[in-house]
Amino acid sequence: KLYNEVQDLKGSIRVYCRIRPFFPGQPNQLSAVENIEDGTITVSIPSRNGKGQRSFNFNKVFGPSATQAEVFLDMQPLIRSVLDGYNVCIFAYGQTGSGKTYTMTGPKEITEKSQEIHSSSHKGLSVPDASLVPVSSTIDVIELMNLGHRNRAVGATALNDRSSRSHSCLTVHVQGRDLASGATIRGCMHLVDLAGSERVDKSEATGDRLKEAQHINKSLSALGDVIASLAHKNSHIPYRNSKLTQLLQDSLGGQAKTLMFVHISPESDAIGETISTLKFAERVA
Ligand code: ADP
Ligand code: MG
Repeated sequence: KLYNEVQDLKGSIRVYCRIRPFFPGQPNQLSAVENIEDGTITVSIPSRNGKGQRSFNFNKVFGPSATQAEVFLDMQPLIRSVLDGYNVCIFAYGQTGSGKTYTMTGPKEITEKSQEIHSSSHKGLSVPDASLVPVSSTIDVIELMNLGHRNRAVGATALNDRSSRSHSCLTVHVQGRDLASGATIRGCMHLVDLAGSERVDKSEATGDRLKEAQHINKSLSALGDVIASLAHKNSHIPYRNSKLTQLLQDSLGGQAKTLMFVHISPESDAIGETISTLKFAERVA
């Protein structure tokens, strides 16, 4: 309860950033990230007259050496507030390979325990083919996530031959009873692993792939528009501009809590995408 009061004072939208470590065995490339201090990241930007620097502020920054345990520990109170009846959205944003899925599911994708889902009861959700499945253990949830991973559309791109070209959303509904008053408490949490934010070079992607990429970019910018409008307390929130924001409308704004967790790659040749990711984060903060 105290947590929620503190959070409410700070506002319901927070923006975090995580920087993936270099891959082991990778030649030591010069990173564009110059400095990480408290909630500020400074990057060097190539410009016509040499190099410039820019700083971006976040509610929190996790550097390359941050562990999964540290990240999860920080997010625990937010997740716990679902039990108090809050709706929570956690988004992982960033270019393909920047560590979104790692943050949501890491250290390794949990595929060993995968099994088919047997019990599933379908209820009227607004997404065709989405199913609501009762779960009674962590394993049940992991199995569901694995099923989702397998169903997720993957297409080959120049960046990553298994690049995720779709958003993935796992929603956990929690219903409980307030022991004092007997009132029913309902909360839900959406874990959204967004499609890669990279701009696709028209010369490399054609046909369906290009259309798909343009669609993804449109949907990510519509999400950015909604969160930015909420952050700036605009009177009109453009939920209707994308399916994703329509679907999550009840959990974006109002009493709901949103965490936009942006991810950046450390390599200097990712600087273009890194800057555009940081600018996206700046717009929604
Ligand atoms: P994305 O989902 O954004 O495409 P991934 O989560 O698949 O990116 O990460 C790309 C690769 O980097 C994976 O092999 C993953 O295990 C590794 N990786 C990502 N983040 C970290 C991290 N914080 N620590 C160690 N390895 C990471
Ligand atoms: Mg991924």
